[in-house]
Amino acid sequence: MIKRKSVFFLTCLLLLAGAAQAQVWPWFNWTILPSAQFDEIVGEASGDTAWKTIMEIGGYAKDRPAEEFKDLFYEVKYVLGQLRKYGIPGAEVVKFPGGQSWKGILGELWEVAPMRQKLASYLDMASMLASGSTNADVKAELVWVGRGTKEELQGKDVKGKIVVAEGNLGAVHNLACAQMGAEGVIAISTSRNTFDPLQIPWSGIGGRGEAPAPAKFGFWLPFREGYYLKERLLRGDKITVHARVKSQTLPYEVQDVTAHIPGSDPNAGEIVFSAHMFEGLLKQSGNDNSSGCAGILEVARTLNTLINEGRLPKPKRTIRFIWGPEFSGTGPWAKANKAIMEKTLCNINFDMVGEWLSRNYSFMSLMRTTFGNPHYINDVVENYFRYVGETNREKLQNRGNFPYKMSRRIVAPTGADEPFYYAIETHYGASDHEVFNDWGVQVPGIMMIAWPDQWYHTSGDHVDKSDPTALKRVVAIAAASAYTIANADDDMAIRIISETASNGTRRLGHYLARGFEDLNNSEAKALADAYTAARSYVEAGLINEKATLDSVMELAVDKTRVGAHITAMKRAVEAVGQAELAALDAQMRAVAGRLKSQPVKLVPGALEMKAAKIVPRPTSKVKENGYQGYRDLINKVPEEARKKYAVPAQAVDTLELSRLIDGKNSVLDIKKLLDAQSARKSDLQQILDYIEILKLAGLVEFRETKAEPLTGRSGQLRIS
Ligand SMILES: [Zn+2]
Repeated sequence: MIKRKSVFFLTCLLLLAGAAQAQVWPWFNWTILPSAQFDEIVGEASGDTAWKTIMEIGGYAKDRPAEEFKDLFYEVKYVLGQLRKYGIPGAEVVKFPGGQSWKGILGELWEVAPMRQKLASYLDMASMLASGSTNADVKAELVWVGRGTKEELQGKDVKGKIVVAEGNLGAVHNLACAQMGAEGVIAISTSRNTFDPLQIPWSGIGGRGEAPAPAKFGFWLPFREGYYLKERLLRGDKITVHARVKSQTLPYEVQDVTAHIPGSDPNAGEIVFSAHMFEGLLKQSGNDNSSGCAGILEVARTLNTLINEGRLPKPKRTIRFIWGPEFSGTGPWAKANKAIMEKTLCNINFDMVGEWLSRNYSFMSLMRTTFGNPHYINDVVENYFRYVGETNREKLQNRGNFPYKMSRRIVAPTGADEPFYYAIETHYGASDHEVFNDWGVQVPGIMMIAWPDQWYHTSGDHVDKSDPTALKRVVAIAAASAYTIANADDDMAIRIISETASNGTRRLGHYLARGFEDLNNSEAKALADAYTAARSYVEAGLINEKATLDSVMELAVDKTRVGAHITAMKRAVEAVGQAELAALDAQMRAVAGRLKSQPVKLVPGALEMKAAKIVPRPTSKVKENGYQGYRDLINKVPEEARKKYAVPAQAVDTLELSRLIDGKNSVLDIKKLLDAQSARKSDLQQILDYIEILKLAGLVEFRETKAEPLTGRSGQLRIS
């Protein structure tokens, strides 16, 4: 009787989850904000304005004048000027200590015999001169060395000559120049040469002390031009060139620009936008990341205009903006603004958002937070992504419905009239949202990024690959997301809770699918492991979904009312998860039947028992010194202890492990939460070891509980 009842319950819930997954219909799409407000934002957001900003600050790569190093950098001045022109409050430049930067002055590579012709010039393309190159005035013969590997260089007389190679300029330089006495390197770029034979990677020869011997010089040739040189050398032509290089090293300071749109209640929290303005001072690129800088500038202008003109009510919460060098600018800023970080609810980071999507074969992607930073920001942004994506492609059902084939067409006047190719993805770091997501900061941050980018990190990354339509759409999505949160009252909090809950049931469906597949693909002897893993995905998903629902509480004024709704939705999500665990049990039995083996009986081992009872809790020292500040304490743990509890760098994602320590997750939960987000399985003992180091560093305390794996917070292991 109990069994039949639960199967019926399961069927209902899975149908519910299925409905949530197919949440997109050709005739029904929705936004969290009332459509009148969203329309106002879409109308005001100008992709063309953002495109022009890219043109201004990253339209092409130029030789940055030495004077800029003594004053404000060009991009900094431009963004600051626009913020002031737009009348956005608090616009200022904040400076932090910088370092030394290599800067090219002259880079001329001429063939002098048998022909006289220019092969490369720093003035033609700044990326042609490898960064780190040092002064030279050399006439030398060229030698073809293939890919310039150790094997290919062996036996070749390169001393006093300039080697020509296809491959990694820095690596060839280290072998041929530093070890074998060559005068310099010419490298032929092969990156994406079948797509665009004109692009050159931004790279150098480690002129900042990284090379094993003093750096000489390197020139890059694009594939198209390099091909001619290669063919001539392979024919046996003797070619002599004259290389002239001048460079200097200049001190620089880190310059950030910030501004904010003040909310009506300074205690209600803030939202922070970020975009890296530099990636080194040499590389100046259109989409990476002038587009992000232009994008958040246009978000600022759009919201400020709408609020000032009374077209949107003044929000309760402040919306802040930061532009600066990737990590090296946002990191110190977050560290220096601890009080702001304490009251900041979430971060939206733009890194490469201007791509003309079809030309790049690209998807505009929402990179969610990890389980270590559960937050409703994911669901708020996803809502607008989905809305714009689903209403900006022609659907077969709508084919006869002109002029409403695209049900809510959002296109910039000079931009592409193409679908919004979008993707909702799991977390990826490597940009400034990681400053906010850091254990020492704990402001959940998402990234919006177009990927792939066919001109990424090359000389081809210019504004001609950017699209005003893509920019208009991301600006509208991000502005709507930030405004939703900034202006959220209790009713809006409840609206967000429902969005998170329905998305949560869909995500749980994905964990179930992964669990089913682990079981389906298992062999008899591995079935117990497969079953444990399958359950752990759903259990981890459940922990994350419930924590995400809890995160909405920070918006509540009437905590009782909003809290009651969170509890109700957590109960619904829990019921779906429990039904899925029952489904996994049924699947495991079916698979065991096929494999002619016994159904799995899960019996926790001593280590699982131990891990289930330990609930580590972060101490106040974790956030005391802000971004990455806790690292100093880890480094101070005695060498002996660090050796004893050493965890191989690739074995466990220690960054995420640390973030999962919240005083609620047991160590066994943490393992599940790590494994559900990764292709690899972490080792429970190694997790315990790393937590031991954190404990010795004073960053973590233990709370022993009576919980057992069988009765843990998500019904972890269960004898079936
Ligand atoms: Zn970037």
